[in-house]
Parts: sequence; C-alpha cells; structure tokens
Amino acid sequence: MDHAQSKPELLDRLAAIVGDNHVLRDPADLAPRLVENRGLYRGRSSLLLKPGSTEEVAAIMKLASDTGTPIVPQTGNTGLVGGQTPRDTGQDVILSLERMNRIREVDPVANVLVADGGAILADVQKAAEAVNRLFPLSLGSEGSCRIGGNLSTNAGGTAVLAYGNMRHLCLGLEVVLPTGEIWNGLRKLKKDNTGYDLRDLFIGAEGTLGVITGAVLKLFPRPVGHQVAFAGLRSPHDALQLFGLASDLCGGALTGFELMPRIGIDFTTRHIAGVRDPLPTPHPWYALIDISTSDSAETAQVMVQSLLEKGFEAGLVQDAVIAASVAQEQALWHMRESMSDAQKPEGGSIKHDVSVPVSKIPDFMEEAAKAVLEAMPGARICAFGHLGDGNIHYNISQPVGADKAEFLGRWREINAIVHAIVLKAGGSISAEHGIGQLKRDELAQIRSPIEMEMMYRIKRAFDPAGIMNPGKVVSLP
Ligand SMILES: Cc1cc2nc3c(=O)[nH]c(=O)nc-3n(C[C@H](O)[C@H](O)[C@H](O)COP(=O)(O)OP(=O)(O)OC[C@H]3O[C@@H](n4cnc5c(N)ncnc54)[C@H](O)[C@@H]3O)c2cc1C
Repeated sequence: MDHAQSKPELLDRLAAIVGDNHVLRDPADLAPRLVENRGLYRGRSSLLLKPGSTEEVAAIMKLASDTGTPIVPQTGNTGLVGGQTPRDTGQDVILSLERMNRIREVDPVANVLVADGGAILADVQKAAEAVNRLFPLSLGSEGSCRIGGNLSTNAGGTAVLAYGNMRHLCLGLEVVLPTGEIWNGLRKLKKDNTGYDLRDLFIGAEGTLGVITGAVLKLFPRPVGHQVAFAGLRSPHDALQLFGLASDLCGGALTGFELMPRIGIDFTTRHIAGVRDPLPTPHPWYALIDISTSDSAETAQVMVQSLLEKGFEAGLVQDAVIAASVAQEQALWHMRESMSDAQKPEGGSIKHDVSVPVSKIPDFMEEAAKAVLEAMPGARICAFGHLGDGNIHYNISQPVGADKAEFLGRWREINAIVHAIVLKAGGSISAEHGIGQLKRDELAQIRSPIEMEMMYRIKRAFDPAGIMNPGKVVSLP
C-alpha cells in the first residue's frame, strides 16, 4: 500500500482519472452531497469523483485499494439511512455515477432493459414505456434516485405486492470490485443455476462490497385496465380482512394495498397543496387499493366493484370511492406518497421502516400504539404503508406544543420500544430503506452471532483493504 503518499497528491491522482471537469472539490459544491435527505447525517469529504465509464470506476477503485482510500458510492443521494453519506473523518472520497446514466439496451421481446448504474429510475420507466413495456419499480424519489442506488438498497416501493422488490426485478449485474477488478455478470437469463448467486450478494449491500456500474432489468407487459379505489375503514383488523378478500378476488391483479390512518389524511389535507379528503365523512382508517389487469379494462372495473360490494356486505368497508379518471388515480396516490412530507410542518417525526408478517399487522399496530403512548403521552402516531407487503412506515409526530429537539432526542428510545414489538412478531427493523449508518449497531444486536460472522467473512473476502463504504451496514470487529 502507498500510505506514505501525501493526501493532496493522492486526491490529484484520483481526480486525474476522471478529468478536472468531472470532480467537485469546492466546499460549496460538495455541501449538498455531504448531507443525507432528512438531515440525520452530515459527513465531510474533500473530493467527489464523477467517472464516465466502468473502466474509470475500476481505475479509481484500484488506486483507492492500493492507497487505502475509503470510497463512498453515491448515486441519487435519496437514501434514508445515511449509507451514501461520507463519515465525519474527512478521509472518504465520494464516487458519484451521475454521468453514467445511459440506457444501454431495451429488448421488448425478451423483456429486458440494460442500464448504467447511474441511470435515473424515471428514465428507465420512460424507456420501458417507449416500447410499450412496464418497469414496475415506483418510489416517491423516482425523479432523482438511480438504478445503482435502487439495487444497492434493494428498493421496494408501491408495486412490490405484484412485482417484488429490486432483487426480483434484476437478472444480471456489472460490478467493479473494491480491488478494481470488473465482474461482467450482465446475464439475461431467468434460469441460471451455476454456483453461488453472486448477483444477490451485491443487491442490498449498500455499496459495501463493490460498485454496481450496470444492470439487466426485467420488463413486463403494460397493464390494460387500471382502477384505484379508496375505502374508509374502522380498523387495521378490517383492513386485513379486506386485503384477504381482495387477494381472493383479484389474485395477481392486485398491485397495491396501502393502509393509512385518519391523522395522515388530516396532515396531507392541511399541508399538501391540492390534496382533498376523498370521502365526505372521516373514518379512523383507510385503504388505497390498486388493481391492474392485462386482458381488458372491463376486468379491472368488474374486480374493483365486486371487491367494494363484498367489502360493504361483510361490514368491512364503511364508505368508498373509485377514481373516475387518471387524474383522480394520481391524486389518490399523491395523497399517500405525500404522507411523510405532510408530517414535516407538524414538528419532529420519529420514524420506523418495519415489516411484520401480514396477518400480524393489526396486533402490531395495537401493541405498538399502546407502548408508544405509555412512553410518550400525546405522541401522534401516523403509521401508514404497504399493508400487502407487511411493511409499515411507523412514523410518530411530536405531541402538540412539545419541544422538537427534546422529542427527537428520544429517537433511539422510541425505536427500541417499537423494534422490540416488531421482533417479537417475527418482523424486520428495516423493510425497505436498509441499514446504512442508522441501524448498523442495532443490526449487530438483533442478528445471531453466526449470521453476523457470515456477513463479516463476506465483507473481508470482497474488501480486504476495508475501503468500500466503511462504517456502513457492518462494523468489522
Ligand atoms: C421521497 C422519498 C420516497 C422514498 N420512497 C421509498 C420507497 O417507497 N421504497 C424504498 O425502498 N425506498 C424509498 N426511498 C429511499 C430511496 O429513495 C431509495 O433507497 C433509493 O433506492 C436510493 O437510490 P439513490 O440512487 O438515491 O441511492 P443513494 O442514496 O445515492 O445511495 C443509497 C445506498 O446505495 C449505495 N450506492 C448507491 N449507488 C451505488 C452503486 N452504484 N453501487 C454500489 N452502491 C451504491 C450508497 O453507498 C448507499 O449506501 C425514498 C426516499 C425518498 C426521499
């Protein structure tokens, strides 16, 4: 290793690989890249590199490996657990794939699309649409998050119920290893049982094992019929029953089943421009139901009507509307997707991105609410999310009039209360967003020693110099 080299000279050598026009060194330019989306983490760095090719990424990693320089991959910088944020040591160099944003190939017959790791998710969706195909990953951040980040966090979003998360949407990868070696695993095969699944190691690794520079993604036929309904309900228990009914009636056509509380509707109608309460009277809970059919538009209409009729008959649905236009469908989804933002004007918000087995959601909601309110009377629980995936964003807004800093100072204490209930139910403390810095220490506490040991061994095998996004996901003992 070349540790004797002076730092400025090393930064110059790294910069020379991409060219001076493709680096950020000015503190003002770097500033937005040093902070995580919610402001939970702020790091330090003197250099951001924007390579233009896989070969340039490989040259950067080789030099970093030889000199022991920590590298932090960052693509859209929309991650929510501080994985893409440099540490505060000031030693980390940020590697941004924003210039590597090409769609390399689209094949509507084989139903595959090959993209650079820095391709923006919305551009991938549009490229699929241009050949009458669907790339189903859809997130609130889709205009700025990029495929490398989506894969590295194994992103979920609104259509997991029907299409799965990013792991299910990827056939092959191109990865630059921490040593600078390039693995071309851009295979387009649905069936490939040849040895260990290396692809799946990099998906969800949050940039700790290598840099994803390209990916083969799966495309699907575009749905012909689409219906969105919004139903007022009494409880999460009724929502679960309605979900069972919807699964029976719609099967694979059920694309989304989202649960929302009344307080979430209050927050969005109060703070998000253009959002209106879709129903004339308030209800304690709501379900947003999304149905997509591939045969005809009529099938979707028949399904949604029959589901709501049966829901009324069973006493589960109290009131409901069916979106009458694409604009109304978008308005209903916009309300759901604005639920996090709508909490911001209400003061501090302590968040949890948890999952439990779907059938345990009602019990989890009840038990968690009781425990949180005991610990913090007046806390305003705005728990919403992808009921169909068992994934709840268990967000808690501060009590009215409480001191924001004091409230947020209890983040870890409240997390521990909620996570204990989640784990007891056989759930996960990170359903969608990953581990990053936020949950790294908790991961080591909740996973068994042998599971942690296997992760340490994998990390050491891929990253012997310890330069690949160090301090994220696992902290080597
Ligand atoms: C409004 C909003 C809504 C969101 N909704 C959802 C949601 O519904 N579901 C969901 O799952 N997430 C959601 N997220 C979280 C976030 O958008 C996703 O995790 C997204 O996939 C991150 O992509 P990115 O390009 O921004 O990655 P970044 O934030 O840049 O990076 C995320 C992680 O991946 C690593 N990484 C990035 N690029 C690479 C690469 N090329 N190779 C190796 N490692 C890399 C980084 O080091 C970091 O650890 C949301 C975020 C926001 C702000």
